[in-house]
Amino acid sequence: MSRPKIRLHVEHPLSQGQTVDLSREQANYLFAVMRLSPGDEVALFNGRDGEWRARVADGSKRGGTLAVEEQTAPQQDPPDLWLLFAPIKKARTDFIVEKAAEMGAARILPVQTDFTNSERIRQDRLQAHAVEAAEQCGGTYVPTVEELRPLSAVLDAWPADRRLVFADEALVGAKRALAAAPDAAKWAILTGPEGGFSDAERTRLRGLPFVTPISLGPRILRADTAAVAALALWQAERGDWR
Ligand code: SAH
Repeated sequence: MSRPKIRLHVEHPLSQGQTVDLSREQANYLFAVMRLSPGDEVALFNGRDGEWRARVADGSKRGGTLAVEEQTAPQQDPPDLWLLFAPIKKARTDFIVEKAAEMGAARILPVQTDFTNSERIRQDRLQAHAVEAAEQCGGTYVPTVEELRPLSAVLDAWPADRRLVFADEALVGAKRALAAAPDAAKWAILTGPEGGFSDAERTRLRGLPFVTPISLGPRILRADTAAVAALALWQAERGDWR
Protein backbone atom coordinates (compact mmCIF):
# COMPACT_ATOMS: atom_id res chain seq x y z
CA MET A 1 0.00 0.00 0.00
CA SER A 2 1.53 3.32 -0.97
CA ARG A 3 1.91 5.79 1.85
CA PRO A 4 1.71 9.58 1.43
CA LYS A 5 5.07 11.32 1.80
CA ILE A 6 4.02 14.12 4.12
CA ARG A 7 3.39 12.87 7.65
CA LEU A 8 1.63 14.84 10.32
CA HIS A 9 1.01 14.08 13.98
CA VAL A 10 -2.46 15.08 15.22
CA GLU A 11 -4.29 14.66 18.53
CA HIS A 12 -7.59 13.75 16.85
CA PRO A 13 -8.90 10.14 16.89
CA LEU A 14 -8.33 8.51 13.49
CA SER A 15 -10.79 6.26 11.68
CA GLN A 16 -12.49 6.17 8.31
CA GLY A 17 -14.70 9.17 7.63
CA GLN A 18 -13.26 11.38 10.38
CA THR A 19 -12.71 15.06 9.63
CA VAL A 20 -9.60 16.57 11.20
CA ASP A 21 -9.45 20.32 11.77
CA LEU A 22 -5.95 21.72 11.40
CA SER A 23 -4.30 24.14 13.79
CA ARG A 24 -2.92 27.37 12.42
CA GLU A 25 0.61 25.93 12.60
CA GLN A 26 -0.33 22.73 10.79
CA ALA A 27 -2.22 24.65 8.10
CA ASN A 28 0.75 26.94 7.60
CA TYR A 29 3.05 23.92 7.23
CA LEU A 30 0.81 22.05 4.78
CA PHE A 31 -0.41 24.94 2.65
CA ALA A 32 2.25 27.68 2.88
CA VAL A 33 5.41 25.56 3.29
CA MET A 34 4.52 22.29 1.51
CA ARG A 35 2.08 23.99 -0.90
CA LEU A 36 -0.60 21.29 -0.77
CA SER A 37 -3.95 21.84 -2.51
CA PRO A 38 -7.42 20.33 -2.02
CA GLY A 39 -7.32 16.65 -3.04
CA ASP A 40 -3.66 16.15 -2.01
CA GLU A 41 -2.74 13.36 0.40
CA VAL A 42 -1.22 13.49 3.87
CA ALA A 43 -0.37 10.64 6.27
CA LEU A 44 -1.76 11.18 9.77
CA PHE A 45 -0.95 9.45 13.05
CA ASN A 46 -1.88 10.22 16.64
CA GLY A 47 0.30 7.77 18.54
CA ARG A 48 -2.59 5.31 19.09
CA ASP A 49 -4.47 4.46 15.89
CA GLY A 50 -1.70 3.65 13.37
CA GLU A 51 -1.18 5.68 10.21
CA TRP A 52 -4.01 6.90 8.01
CA ARG A 53 -4.26 8.41 4.56
CA ALA A 54 -6.11 11.70 4.63
CA ARG A 55 -7.02 14.09 1.85
CA VAL A 56 -7.10 17.86 1.97
CA ALA A 57 -10.75 18.96 1.92
CA ASP A 58 -10.01 22.65 2.17
CA GLY A 59 -7.17 24.76 3.39
CA SER A 60 -5.79 28.23 3.81
CA LYS A 61 -2.71 29.56 5.60
CA ARG A 62 -4.76 29.89 8.77
CA GLY A 63 -6.75 26.68 8.91
CA GLY A 64 -8.18 23.76 7.00
CA THR A 65 -9.67 20.30 7.20
CA LEU A 66 -8.51 16.83 6.20
CA ALA A 67 -10.79 13.88 5.43
CA VAL A 68 -9.50 10.54 6.80
CA GLU A 69 -9.78 7.72 4.24
CA GLU A 70 -8.00 4.45 5.08
CA GLN A 71 -5.36 3.00 7.35
CA THR A 72 -1.94 2.77 5.67
CA ALA A 73 -0.01 1.21 8.59
CA PRO A 74 -1.03 -0.47 11.84
CA GLN A 75 -0.17 1.05 15.20
CA GLN A 76 3.32 -0.08 16.21
CA ASP A 77 4.36 0.51 19.79
CA PRO A 78 7.99 0.22 20.88
CA PRO A 79 9.10 -2.23 23.59
CA ASP A 80 8.47 -1.10 27.17
CA LEU A 81 11.77 0.77 27.47
CA TRP A 82 12.37 4.06 29.25
CA LEU A 83 15.40 6.27 28.71
CA LEU A 84 16.63 8.17 31.76
CA PHE A 85 19.31 10.68 30.85
CA ALA A 86 20.99 13.68 32.44
CA PRO A 87 20.32 16.77 30.30
CA ILE A 88 23.39 18.49 28.87
CA LYS A 89 23.72 21.53 26.61
CA LYS A 90 20.54 22.49 24.77
CA ALA A 91 21.40 21.26 21.27
CA ARG A 92 22.80 17.98 22.59
CA THR A 93 19.76 17.42 24.81
CA ASP A 94 17.53 18.01 21.78
CA PHE A 95 19.63 15.42 19.94
CA ILE A 96 19.20 12.82 22.70
CA VAL A 97 15.40 13.22 22.69
CA GLU A 98 15.19 13.10 18.90
CA LYS A 99 17.37 9.97 18.72
CA ALA A 100 15.55 8.28 21.60
CA ALA A 101 12.26 8.73 19.73
CA GLU A 102 13.81 7.30 16.55
CA MET A 103 15.40 4.40 18.42
CA GLY A 104 12.11 3.33 19.96
CA ALA A 105 12.14 4.50 23.57
CA ALA A 106 8.62 4.39 25.00
CA ARG A 107 9.16 7.12 27.61
CA ILE A 108 11.89 9.69 28.09
CA LEU A 109 12.78 10.90 31.58
CA PRO A 110 15.32 13.71 32.00
CA VAL A 111 16.95 13.27 35.41
CA GLN A 112 19.01 15.64 37.48
CA THR A 113 22.14 13.91 38.75
CA ASP A 114 24.88 15.18 41.07
CA PHE A 115 26.93 16.47 38.12
CA THR A 116 24.07 17.67 35.89
CA ASN A 117 24.86 21.21 34.81
CA SER A 118 21.46 22.10 33.41
CA GLU A 119 18.92 22.96 36.08
CA ARG A 120 15.95 23.40 33.78
CA ILE A 121 14.68 21.97 30.54
CA ARG A 122 11.89 23.07 28.25
CA GLN A 123 9.68 20.00 28.43
CA ASP A 124 7.29 21.34 25.76
CA ARG A 125 10.15 21.92 23.31
CA LEU A 126 11.59 18.46 23.94
CA GLN A 127 8.15 16.89 23.46
CA ALA A 128 7.84 18.74 20.14
CA HIS A 129 11.21 17.27 19.09
CA ALA A 130 9.92 13.78 19.86
CA VAL A 131 6.81 14.43 17.72
CA GLU A 132 8.95 15.70 14.85
CA ALA A 133 11.25 12.68 15.06
CA ALA A 134 8.24 10.34 14.83
CA GLU A 135 6.90 12.30 11.84
CA GLN A 136 10.25 11.96 10.08
CA CYS A 137 11.08 8.33 10.82
CA GLY A 138 7.72 6.88 9.85
CA GLY A 139 6.83 5.95 13.42
CA THR A 140 3.27 5.71 14.68
CA TYR A 141 4.24 6.10 18.35
CA VAL A 142 5.42 9.23 20.15
CA PRO A 143 7.30 8.79 23.44
CA THR A 144 6.25 11.01 26.33
CA VAL A 145 8.95 13.38 27.54
CA GLU A 146 8.64 13.97 31.28
CA GLU A 147 9.64 17.02 33.31
CA LEU A 148 13.13 17.06 34.82
CA ARG A 149 13.21 15.20 38.15
CA PRO A 150 16.04 14.39 40.56
CA LEU A 151 17.50 10.94 39.90
CA SER A 152 17.30 10.15 43.62
CA ALA A 153 13.52 10.78 43.64
CA VAL A 154 13.01 8.66 40.52
CA LEU A 155 14.95 5.82 42.17
CA ASP A 156 12.97 6.20 45.45
CA ALA A 157 9.73 5.60 43.51
CA TRP A 158 11.13 2.92 41.20
CA PRO A 159 8.72 0.12 40.18
CA ALA A 160 10.42 -3.10 41.36
CA ASP A 161 9.51 -5.06 38.22
CA ARG A 162 11.37 -2.70 35.87
CA ARG A 163 15.03 -3.55 35.21
CA LEU A 164 17.35 -0.54 35.03
CA VAL A 165 20.41 -0.81 32.79
CA PHE A 166 22.97 1.61 34.15
CA ALA A 167 25.65 2.80 31.70
CA ASP A 168 28.52 3.06 34.16
CA GLU A 169 31.60 4.81 32.83
CA ALA A 170 33.64 3.22 35.63
CA LEU A 171 33.20 -0.04 33.68
CA VAL A 172 34.83 1.36 30.52
CA GLY A 173 36.52 -1.54 28.77
CA ALA A 174 34.90 -4.15 31.03
CA LYS A 175 33.23 -7.20 29.54
CA ARG A 176 30.22 -6.80 31.85
CA ALA A 177 27.45 -7.05 29.29
CA LEU A 178 23.74 -6.68 28.95
CA ALA A 179 23.49 -10.42 28.30
CA ALA A 180 24.09 -10.97 32.03
CA ALA A 181 20.90 -9.12 33.00
CA PRO A 182 17.97 -11.30 34.08
CA ASP A 183 14.85 -11.52 31.92
CA ALA A 184 12.31 -8.75 32.38
CA ALA A 185 9.24 -7.42 30.59
CA LYS A 186 9.89 -3.79 31.54
CA TRP A 187 13.18 -2.00 31.09
CA ALA A 188 14.96 1.32 31.43
CA ILE A 189 18.36 2.70 30.49
CA LEU A 190 20.25 5.34 32.48
CA THR A 191 23.05 7.46 31.03
CA GLY A 192 24.92 10.23 32.79
CA PRO A 193 26.04 13.81 32.13
CA GLU A 194 29.40 15.00 30.80
CA GLY A 195 30.85 14.80 34.31
CA GLY A 196 29.68 11.22 34.76
CA PHE A 197 28.12 9.86 37.95
CA SER A 198 29.28 10.73 41.47
CA ASP A 199 30.72 8.03 43.72
CA ALA A 200 27.61 8.27 45.90
CA GLU A 201 25.33 7.72 42.90
CA ARG A 202 27.42 4.81 41.63
CA THR A 203 27.40 3.14 45.06
CA ARG A 204 23.65 3.54 45.41
CA LEU A 205 22.90 2.35 41.86
CA ARG A 206 25.13 -0.71 42.15
CA GLY A 207 23.40 -1.70 45.38
CA LEU A 208 19.85 -1.63 43.99
CA PRO A 209 18.38 -5.06 43.17
CA PHE A 210 16.76 -3.87 39.93
CA VAL A 211 19.95 -2.32 38.49
CA THR A 212 22.32 -3.95 35.98
CA PRO A 213 25.49 -1.88 35.43
CA ILE A 214 26.87 -2.19 31.91
CA SER A 215 29.90 -1.07 29.96
CA LEU A 216 29.56 0.62 26.57
CA GLY A 217 32.94 -0.56 25.38
CA PRO A 218 36.57 0.48 25.72
CA ARG A 219 36.11 4.20 24.94
CA ILE A 220 34.50 6.93 27.02
CA LEU A 221 31.58 8.18 24.94
CA ARG A 222 30.11 11.63 25.13
CA ALA A 223 26.79 11.75 26.93
CA ASP A 224 24.72 12.06 23.74
CA THR A 225 26.62 9.25 22.00
CA ALA A 226 26.26 7.06 25.09
CA ALA A 227 22.46 7.43 25.10
CA VAL A 228 22.18 6.37 21.45
CA ALA A 229 24.72 3.55 21.85
CA ALA A 230 22.93 2.16 24.90
CA LEU A 231 19.58 2.24 23.08
CA ALA A 232 21.08 0.46 20.05
CA LEU A 233 22.73 -2.17 22.25
CA TRP A 234 19.49 -2.83 24.13
CA GLN A 235 17.31 -2.95 21.00
CA ALA A 236 19.73 -5.41 19.38
CA GLU A 237 20.04 -7.73 22.38
CA ARG A 238 16.70 -7.41 24.18
CA GLY A 239 14.41 -5.26 22.04
CA ASP A 240 12.73 -5.14 18.65
CA TRP A 241 15.84 -5.45 16.44
CA ARG A 242 16.08 -9.15 17.15
N1 SAH B 1 33.46 12.47 32.50
C1 SAH B 1 33.25 11.06 32.68
C2 SAH B 1 32.57 10.44 31.46
C3 SAH B 1 31.14 10.78 31.27
S1 SAH B 1 30.53 10.13 29.80
C4 SAH B 1 34.59 10.36 32.83
O1 SAH B 1 35.56 10.82 32.26
O2 SAH B 1 34.62 9.31 33.47
C5 SAH B 1 28.81 10.43 29.95
C6 SAH B 1 27.96 9.22 30.27
O3 SAH B 1 27.99 8.32 29.18
C7 SAH B 1 28.40 8.39 31.45
O4 SAH B 1 27.90 8.89 32.67
C8 SAH B 1 27.86 7.02 31.14
O5 SAH B 1 26.50 6.91 31.49
C9 SAH B 1 27.98 6.98 29.64
N2 SAH B 1 29.20 6.32 29.14
C10 SAH B 1 30.13 6.86 28.30
N3 SAH B 1 31.07 5.97 27.96
C11 SAH B 1 30.75 4.81 28.60
C12 SAH B 1 31.33 3.50 28.61
N4 SAH B 1 32.43 3.19 27.93
N5 SAH B 1 30.72 2.55 29.37
C13 SAH B 1 29.59 2.84 30.08
N6 SAH B 1 29.00 4.06 30.08
C14 SAH B 1 29.56 5.04 29.34
